[in-house]
Amino acid sequence: MAKSTENEVLPKGGIGRRMVRLTVLSAVVCSITLGGLAAFATYHLARERAEEAQATALRWSAEHLNRLVSDGGAEIEAIAGDATLRHMALRRSHTDLSLGLTEHLTRSRSFSGLLVLTPEGDPLAAAGEGVSFDELMAVAMPKRALDSGLSEAMRSADLRRALTSSDDTAIQIVEPREGMPLAIVSSPLRDAKLGSPGSIHGLLHPERMAESLHAEQLAGAGSVRILDAGDRILAETGVGVGVELASIPRDRRDAADAPGAHLIRRAGETPLAWALASALPLEDLGWTLVVQQGVEQAFAPLAVILPGLVFVSGCLILGMGTLASMMAGRSVRPLVAVTKAIRRVTAGDFDVQLPAGRLLGPVGALFRAFNGMTAKLLADHQQREQNLRALSEQNQAFQKEHQILSRLSVTDGLTELNNHRYFQDQLRREEKRLSRAGLGLSMLIIDIDDFKKLNDSFGHAAGDEFLRQLAQILRESVRETDLLARYGGEEFVIVATTTNAPGAALLGEKLRTKVAESSFIVDETKRPRRMTISIGVAAYRDSRSKLFADADAALYRAKAAGKNCVMIHEPEDAEA
Ligand code: GH3
Ligand code: MG
Ligand code: MG
Repeated sequence: MAKSTENEVLPKGGIGRRMVRLTVLSAVVCSITLGGLAAFATYHLARERAEEAQATALRWSAEHLNRLVSDGGAEIEAIAGDATLRHMALRRSHTDLSLGLTEHLTRSRSFSGLLVLTPEGDPLAAAGEGVSFDELMAVAMPKRALDSGLSEAMRSADLRRALTSSDDTAIQIVEPREGMPLAIVSSPLRDAKLGSPGSIHGLLHPERMAESLHAEQLAGAGSVRILDAGDRILAETGVGVGVELASIPRDRRDAADAPGAHLIRRAGETPLAWALASALPLEDLGWTLVVQQGVEQAFAPLAVILPGLVFVSGCLILGMGTLASMMAGRSVRPLVAVTKAIRRVTAGDFDVQLPAGRLLGPVGALFRAFNGMTAKLLADHQQREQNLRALSEQNQAFQKEHQILSRLSVTDGLTELNNHRYFQDQLRREEKRLSRAGLGLSMLIIDIDDFKKLNDSFGHAAGDEFLRQLAQILRESVRETDLLARYGGEEFVIVATTTNAPGAALLGEKLRTKVAESSFIVDETKRPRRMTISIGVAAYRDSRSKLFADADAALYRAKAAGKNCVMIHEPEDAEA
């Protein structure tokens, strides 16, 4: 018995394959979504951490620098309050004044250098490491500031006037003609009794200010930059220095109370290079403090987690895809098996059984119900086939019987020649054909001479035997196209087609001679007997009945002429 198996491969382009593909796709989409969500959450966490670190570092740095400035104000006032220093300034004692300034400078937390100017703005003394103003500048300021001509700038009358004009403690940004600006905190030197001997100035150098930011406070936040009002970089410190961020746009600089980090494109790098940056204004200086970090550092935790995440997601996609494919395949395969089996049944093959085995659940029930159906269909089919065979055999038998009966209905039982009825039917047909084709048609009526005598002398059985032997002679003598029949008791008829009366007479003569010259053994005595026949011949004229009448008349004449002869119908026969 042919069996479909449940484990067949799913057909290409079928509903099974489509379902499997759909299930796998949804599993993969779920896995990718989960992986994406996890990556997104991790990114957010990493960004939050980086932003928090930046905000803390930024707030702390701004506070530190602002304190440096405000401490500078307090410091310069304290120095200005030093009476000894004031006296030295009054006395214009350069050396003592420089020493005093140096002493103050070593204790100073804010300043990189100290400078005393006369009320007219001329330099009186300076402290850094050296004594002269230029030397002070060289020591107190980085080389770059010196090279940019600050000392020259300090000699500018306008600047000196600006520095000495204030009656109170003030902070000013000194802008050299070239190079980086400096912040200078100034205070007048005032003596109640002796008047003002000039003013004192503390230099706040941006690079020193930046250096004073502790690296550990910036840990994890990136680098710190101090920008001036024109966004020039005044100083930079901390981890990640060198990230080329031209400037953080002004609309991304936050108020001091709410600093926030922003993703900023790095200058001059690939399109994917970004930095995380936050900015705060340094109120007193008019400068901006920027904390920044390349994303690769800002999101370093993400970089650690991401490969793991990708791996886990990949495994999840693979695992879930395979599982979904297997499960979908398992649930679809029975449907495919049933579909195939139904197709076979539709094609007329009922010998199909699904492997129900010990399958439980709806699939088992379906398979068993299907198998029951095909078994019933098969049994019915086999029964039908058997019935058909029997019917066919019966039909053949009936046909045979019918043939025999048909044959019998047109055959004479004794001589096995055509009978009277058949003859009439055939003649009717011949008549039609004749009228169409216009060919000749003749009839011979044959009557045994003195047959009564044979019956009377040797019995009816002998008569019958003679009838049979005569029929055989006639059968052998006529053409296939001729129509021969036993017309009555001892009368026979032949219709010769395409034959005229003389032609038919020739046939009659041939028959007559053959009979007359034959010996017939018709009874147990086995004695040969002589018999003769008389024949009337007529050609077709107008109708069948006339043909019969004409032939009959001719026969009558043959009998009258002494029997054992052939007579052709002649017109006067009709009157006779
Ligand atoms: P005639 O020469 O004038 O024809 O004389 P006849 O004796 O042949 O006379 P008729 O033709 O009248 O005789 C017919 C006889 O043929 C009558 C009947 O007994 C006999 N006969 C008719 N049919 C059969 C038959 O089937 N078998 C036998 N044995 N005899 C038959
Ligand atoms: Mg007769
Ligand atoms: Mg007769």
